[in-house]
Amino acid sequence: MPTRTDESTLSGLFSPTLSVVAPCYNEQDSLSAFVARIEASCIATGCSYEILLVNDGSGDETWERIRALAQGRPGIVGVNLSRNHGHQLAVTAGLSLARGARVLIIDADLQDPPELLGPMMARLDQGYDVVYARRAKRANESRFKLVTAGLFYRVLRRLSDVDIPPDTGDFRLMSRRIVDRLNSMPERDRFIRGMVAWLGGRQSEIVYDREARFAGRTNYTVLKMLRLAVDGITSFSTDPLRAASLLAAIGAVFGVLIAIYALIGFWTGRIVPGWTSQALMTVFFGVGQFACLAIIGAYLGRMYTQLKGRPLFLIDEVVVSPDTEKREEEHAGGAQRESSRVR
Ligand code: UDP
Ligand code: MG
Repeated sequence: MPTRTDESTLSGLFSPTLSVVAPCYNEQDSLSAFVARIEASCIATGCSYEILLVNDGSGDETWERIRALAQGRPGIVGVNLSRNHGHQLAVTAGLSLARGARVLIIDADLQDPPELLGPMMARLDQGYDVVYARRAKRANESRFKLVTAGLFYRVLRRLSDVDIPPDTGDFRLMSRRIVDRLNSMPERDRFIRGMVAWLGGRQSEIVYDREARFAGRTNYTVLKMLRLAVDGITSFSTDPLRAASLLAAIGAVFGVLIAIYALIGFWTGRIVPGWTSQALMTVFFGVGQFACLAIIGAYLGRMYTQLKGRPLFLIDEVVVSPDTEKREEEHAGGAQRESSRVR
């Protein structure tokens, strides 16, 4: 197999039925065990396959090992990113290169069991577009991670209009149609599990026990987790921008009460001189600022959704009766005749 050097080298090759996308960041010790297990799972499906190992700017031997694997074994494609772009963008890069009719996203650290591929393929055979894996149990994850992850998914569901399934990562099998649509979404801050939920179609879940890492330690620092959480919330909800409206409303109610209290004090003379004007000014400017922020938030939210440039809707299927089709054809023929007459 030739060493492939850039994206175009893949385009002339035959398209497999199944693509596997695995982001790898400092996974030198997990790689060979991961490849052995995912390869076995791919072979068990009986489909043609490719395994894209995306090196996300690792600082260890990961890329050297991926390159050796890609050169030595058919079906393995090594992809090297220019630097560390982060998990979501590493997956995005892999998805853009994947050519299979179905695409599996899976972590390279063996926390997602590759053996789930078989049951996932069976689900897609039943006509589903997406099968995502929901975590029932998480082995060896810190209490902190479990609590924060649980809280995040609950807040996100509250805020977002999209039904993003809780306790799922990006471990999922998707049809080509979903992958093409995902690839066409141009947003920069990507929260893939949310974007796939947003796409809709027929989606199904498989519950599994999340295993402990095979080797190494998590690459998701608290900061990266926080960033992903903020990406998730801001990508799928503009509700936080509306916080100013709520504060303005509460401020207005309090403001009126304080103003009445201050004025009564002023007229009855039971007040320190200067207090009334201070109180009125604080109320006026406080409420005014919240109100202005609310107005800006309203416009900003709309600009943000517009700027994301997502398609307005996605059509999965259009069904017409054979009669309608026939009529359409006749009409098209008629229109053609007409246009030739004009000419
Ligand atoms: N990963 C990546 N780039 C990063 C961080 C992580 O490609 O900047 C990969 C990593 O190699 C693994 C997957 O993304 O295959 C999930 O990362 P990790 O296991 O650190 O996250 P966790 O499972 O703890 O949430
Ligand atoms: Mg992991």
